[in-house]
Amino acid sequence: MNKYIPLSIPNFEGNEKKYVDDAIEQGWVSTGGAYITRLEKDMAAFLHTENVAACQSGTSAIHLSLVEAGVKPGDVVLVPPLTFIAAVNPVKYQFATPVFIDCDDSFCMDPDKLKEFCEEECTFNGTELKYKNQTVKALVVVHVFGNMADMESIMTTAKKYNIKVIEDATEALGTRYLTAEEAVNDQISTYAGKYAGTIGDYGAFSFNGNKIITTGGGGAVTANNSKTVDHLRYLSTQAKDDPHYYIHHEVGYNYRMTNLQAALGVAQMEELPEFIRRKQRNYELYKELFKDFELAELIPFRSGTESNKWFYSLKLDRSRIKVPMRDIITYLDTKGIQTRAIWGLINEQKPYLNEVTYKLEKAPYYAERILNIPSSTQITEEEIQYVAKTIKEYLKDIT
Ligand SMILES: *Cc1c(COP(=O)(O)O)cnc(C)c1O
Repeated sequence: MNKYIPLSIPNFEGNEKKYVDDAIEQGWVSTGGAYITRLEKDMAAFLHTENVAACQSGTSAIHLSLVEAGVKPGDVVLVPPLTFIAAVNPVKYQFATPVFIDCDDSFCMDPDKLKEFCEEECTFNGTELKYKNQTVKALVVVHVFGNMADMESIMTTAKKYNIKVIEDATEALGTRYLTAEEAVNDQISTYAGKYAGTIGDYGAFSFNGNKIITTGGGGAVTANNSKTVDHLRYLSTQAKDDPHYYIHHEVGYNYRMTNLQAALGVAQMEELPEFIRRKQRNYELYKELFKDFELAELIPFRSGTESNKWFYSLKLDRSRIKVPMRDIITYLDTKGIQTRAIWGLINEQKPYLNEVTYKLEKAPYYAERILNIPSSTQITEEEIQYVAKTIKEYLKDIT
């Protein structure tokens, strides 16, 4: 194969150029313009929710959610250790304290450890959950790689202890629980048919370059009621109360999406169902190719859900593969295949070294074993076969 196979690149096969040109021709390029409201409407329709606010990034969507949830300096926010650091940094923007809860085998927050932490490490006074003398105000649950977290259990615990739930659905646009009709062999979920990002109190989405749809940079935020979304939108536009006289009743942010980005986004939303279909088909191809391969396992997505299958994860058998991840990635790169290691643990990054962690076992386990393999929507069947064959041969060689 003489073509380089990237991990995850944008796909602009649709109306992207047309809509961006249109936005430029109309002169609406900044934080006002029809494409922004159109993107918000399209997303709301897609997610079967009432109201969505487009913003400048996934990170800003998470930050706005924390602000809206009332997270204040000294509050505790429960967070994941094994994900992109942008899920946790906004906790620091609020001068709140992150506490790291382990993940389960879906890489998402472990609902049992969450419950255990609340029950055994905290006290509940009927309205507030206290960790030492701090209030546990919120949790950030990430739907890692498009895999739905166990929202039923997580929501049960969160409701019991009055913890606000921020869903980081930046990697999971389109992931949902099966509907009652679809769930033939699965248990029907309390959240049947519901999309990732529309189950908790707030849901954050990202349209950064490698996400399932992209606006270059951009994001969106939703909430469990329409008024709250209006307020999030208001906060994202410098909390301007009056369109003409610069009256502000709150501290706002410059977090609004631009019309240029939204023009891209509207085109990308048109293609989203097709992108998801391709991701799902490609996952099935990989699954077939790695079936019965003893040195690495393709990680499944949660049953009872339909995932957008954004990223694919191979779990290496570390009892037999001793080669460091870096060497594996470097070798595959020379073969024209871009791969990457799952993230380093956030609690091991310099700004987080002093934070509390709770029973981290699976996060460090997976951090050493997971290799992400090419998952762009443009990848061909032939390329997938080449990727699988090259990886399998190499792993056999090094054991
Ligand atoms: C991409 C991503 C973000 C941040 O989104 P940006 O749009 O890049 O700010 C947050 N959390 C996770 C898990 C992500 O993958």
